[in-house]
Amino acid sequence: MTESYRVSVRALCEFTAKTGDLDLRFTPSPTAREGMEGHLAVARRRGEQYQTEIALSGEYDALTVRGRADGYTPEINRLEEIKTFRGDLELLPENHRALHWAQAKIYGWLMCQREGLETIELALVYFDIVKQQETLVKESFSANDLEAFFKAQCHTFLAWAKQELAHRRARDSAAEGLQFPHPDFRFGQRPLAEAVYRGAATGQCLLAEAPTGIGKTLGTLFPLVKAMPTQQLDKILFLTAKTPGRALALGAIAQLELPELRTLELVARDKSCEHPDKACHGDSCPLAEGFYDRLPEARAEAVREPQLTQSRLRDLALHHGICPYYLSQEMARWSDVVVGDYNYYYDQSAMLYALTTQQQWRTAVLVDEAHNLVERARGMYSAALNQIQFRATKKQAPKALKNPLEKVNRAWNALNRAQPDEEEFVIQAELPEDFNHSLQLATAAITDYLTEHPFALDSDLMQFYFDALQFLRVVELFEPQSFLCDVEWLKPNRGRKGTLVSLRNLIPAEQLKPRFEAAHSTTLFSGTLRPARYYRDLLGLPADTVAMEMPSPFSAEQLRIHTAPDISTRYRDRSASIAPIARLINQQYREMPGNYLAFFSSYQYLQQVLEAVQTEYTALPVWAQNRRMSESARQEFLDTFQENGQGIGFAVLGGVFGEGVDLPGDRLIGAFIATLGLPQVNPVNEALKQRLDEQFGQGYNDTYLYPGLRKVVQAAGRVIRSERDRGVIHLIDDRFRWKQVKDLLPGWWPTSGW
Ligand code: SF4
Repeated sequence: MTESYRVSVRALCEFTAKTGDLDLRFTPSPTAREGMEGHLAVARRRGEQYQTEIALSGEYDALTVRGRADGYTPEINRLEEIKTFRGDLELLPENHRALHWAQAKIYGWLMCQREGLETIELALVYFDIVKQQETLVKESFSANDLEAFFKAQCHTFLAWAKQELAHRRARDSAAEGLQFPHPDFRFGQRPLAEAVYRGAATGQCLLAEAPTGIGKTLGTLFPLVKAMPTQQLDKILFLTAKTPGRALALGAIAQLELPELRTLELVARDKSCEHPDKACHGDSCPLAEGFYDRLPEARAEAVREPQLTQSRLRDLALHHGICPYYLSQEMARWSDVVVGDYNYYYDQSAMLYALTTQQQWRTAVLVDEAHNLVERARGMYSAALNQIQFRATKKQAPKALKNPLEKVNRAWNALNRAQPDEEEFVIQAELPEDFNHSLQLATAAITDYLTEHPFALDSDLMQFYFDALQFLRVVELFEPQSFLCDVEWLKPNRGRKGTLVSLRNLIPAEQLKPRFEAAHSTTLFSGTLRPARYYRDLLGLPADTVAMEMPSPFSAEQLRIHTAPDISTRYRDRSASIAPIARLINQQYREMPGNYLAFFSSYQYLQQVLEAVQTEYTALPVWAQNRRMSESARQEFLDTFQENGQGIGFAVLGGVFGEGVDLPGDRLIGAFIATLGLPQVNPVNEALKQRLDEQFGQGYNDTYLYPGLRKVVQAAGRVIRSERDRGVIHLIDDRFRWKQVKDLLPGWWPTSGW
């Protein structure tokens, strides 16, 4: 039987019928919900006979083309392709319109073929989601002409499809024969690899707590590459919280030495844009001009590259005179492994999630350092607007926008007046409807303005526009049980008062759930994923998620742990704790000179102990983290930790030196951790506690204890980095002896004596 290549109508047309410039002027496009509502609104206006979402398919040589046509009215034999939009339809670029016609014609032929029709009327229905008006462009076609069009498009795509099928065969057979790149697995690495493979085989989610030193990156990537042929995986997505994780993943893939595997590194637009002063369309940016005309050659060359790192992709894109960022977006479709930030899959408008659902990919997702996902996801589904900044921006606005912006300001002032006197921070019982409505009108006015004057707005007003759109998107998602709306008075600026209005996502479970469901399997791994229930509940993981703790390659003999039962670091006891902590640090250093990290819960606390050490123990070498450290200052801080060096580096718990820092051997021989790292008690955290309590019954632990202890374990994890390391950790607070706290510390730590 000949192999068939499945392609959606949309993907086929995007490949064959897109020509000319890249043009993102006709944006912002409606949100997914607005799009769906637009489709429903059109359907409601049609008669009872109107059919929607009609599944159609057709064959051509090795191709199977499938898709769902938007609507069909049998009485008048009209097939509709609905496009929702905002702004001025007149400004829709010609190549976008051509693409829409191509889709309509393909559906038209598939419909004629299915129903045995000789002719059909095709209509493009442009639905303005702001004005709720539709513009209909229609034309009649014969089935013969549509068939010829269908065949021509398929013919253009066929060579590419055959090349893709050949690539898939070669990739899968190379993966089948793939051997682990080292003579042995590291301790703990094999059970991790086996669990990941099982997850891919059963399609289950896996939460893997895997300690430092077992080679997590290779231990998760290797089994998934092996699973590609057996589980017919289309893609592996390796998602990271921070940039260094990307380099580790690319390094691990390079070790596999599998040239048949195409890997792509995705980088944010602001880091890969070649013309940050320009806009993304052909009249402004030379790399957008003729983008789609030059794309086919660049794409054909790019698929021959096994590893499209940021720099390789940039060279290739510039060689072909096209934008590297948008080439990388295109190559995500044709790569086997994509390495990029969490937001490419978990964000509201995440490209890799959208492609997974549209293209029905079988995707295996790896989430590196997954303890970060709760906080990162909260950020993705939150928004805030600052009134003092807004007022300054409003002054610069063009005349046409003064009125809608003034209405926003009035609604904002009314919202402020509704707050109780003297209260700096007020959680709102309901969403501020009038305020939101004024924002809707203002963003619609700015959209209209931008479509006519694409370069006319300054960067502050553009920033307000994007922030307001994000705010409105969060309004759409807002549910009182998992979001918070609050108004906070800002410090007056030159006597002007104003508030910050925030929509905070507290529990991102509902937003992430569809993303876990869309993936064939997801593995979340980190050194600290405890307790699994916390991550399951807050992230919305499926009920059958498997939680595993991998054995550590390190042993209790490598580590000495001291607790300080006489020191309390509770806020009320802080000042009494300063001198004893300074004494403890000095004592430990005298006993065993070397490099140490000392972690504190805040800069203020850090500073107080630092001053005490500098006053009392003048000979002790110290250096400290400060609030605004540049990349080079951070590096300088770390470089001070030299092999056989001596001194104490003061840092903030949960800050940049609290995780992801690797100081093996004598570069770091111990750590002091003052406090349990509990988040501050404030109205937001208290509201979070209440909601978590209502939903999962563990409000205090979920809000304070677990996030705090995660920071402690991460920070302490800097000390032992290999089987040869030896070290000491001082856990400074009497509560470290409590059972519920001890239970959250790694199993291999020597905690039995206290
Ligand atoms: S180079 Fe920059 S401005 Fe030009 S198309 Fe790419 S991202 Fe847009």
